[in-house]
Amino acid sequence: MAPVRVIRGSGAWQDALPQIRALCSSPLFLGRSSATQPLRNTLISSLTSAGMKVAPALLRHDCCNEDLSRLQSEWSVHRSDGVIAAGGGKVLDAGKLLADRLDLPCITVPLSASTCAGWTALSNLYSPDGAFFGDQALKYCPDLLVFDHDLLRQAPPRTLASGIADALAKWYEASVSSGASQDGLILQAVQMARVLRDQLLIDSVDAMQNPGGDAWIRVIEACGLTAGVIGGLGGARCRTVAAHAVHNGLTQLQACHGSLHGEKVGFGVLVQLRLEERLGGNRLAEQAHRQLLPLLKQLGLPVSLDDLGLSKASLSDLQQVCDFACREGSDLHHLPFSVTPGALLEALVGASEPSVRRP
Ligand SMILES: [Zn+2]
Repeated sequence: MAPVRVIRGSGAWQDALPQIRALCSSPLFLGRSSATQPLRNTLISSLTSAGMKVAPALLRHDCCNEDLSRLQSEWSVHRSDGVIAAGGGKVLDAGKLLADRLDLPCITVPLSASTCAGWTALSNLYSPDGAFFGDQALKYCPDLLVFDHDLLRQAPPRTLASGIADALAKWYEASVSSGASQDGLILQAVQMARVLRDQLLIDSVDAMQNPGGDAWIRVIEACGLTAGVIGGLGGARCRTVAAHAVHNGLTQLQACHGSLHGEKVGFGVLVQLRLEERLGGNRLAEQAHRQLLPLLKQLGLPVSLDDLGLSKASLSDLQQVCDFACREGSDLHHLPFSVTPGALLEALVGASEPSVRRP
């Protein structure tokens, strides 16, 4: 339901070193992007100074079986006794899955607030070139989550905007999938998602404009921690719905691989609201769309297929996205009405049109 221990705030990494040392003495240290390499080098030297023998490892593609098998064989050489994953969602997911498969302690160190993957007992699996494959439940949440504000502050602003969109989706999806649940804990998780959304509606713009300020701290913790609490409490039953299904569909297109997870999910929220409005006759969805569209634009998030780099996408590309999102077993079918790929295509194309207020 939650990591065994969470250390958060400015200087959290230094505070966490004794805890990391207590969990492992020769950790595998997983990262990916060249942009965070200098930062990761600093973290690795502090682990070494604290007496640990570190085996650095790189994720080459994505959180995919190919990378994981390679990392497992690298591990069989070093025999590391723990996994530290430092990076964004893909790295954290891969680190958690690797630790799960090898039965090792897992330490997550998010280097951006783009995700709540540092918290959860779930990893998303992709193909090596980034097409969504499926998600995998893990045995446990991480043993330690280090949420260091000083590290997070160095992330590009775009990753924070992406995290905001992903965290906003919690309410729009959980309220549809689980709002009528009989389980008190799940209902409370749904309400927490509403409070999280309200907080983000109030604080997001301020957070983006003033990194390091009070609103920024509330927002990074909302995206990286509270969103994880909701996933932990609600579990598999507090499911994702159409916003993530649209994301999963979009990842099938190479042209979309340049956009971040939350960027696609935020667009997916607009699409979901449009479906609820058009097919479900839901007035609240119409209102929510009207409220959300300007906010996403203000945060610099993509709100149309063009913004997502799909201006040149062919009809058959878009059909592929819709067929994937509407395939049997997709979370999209948690919507209380049925959606055909054709209706979804219409919503994708019209996602950024303002709602027309009906009499
Ligand atoms: Zn997500």
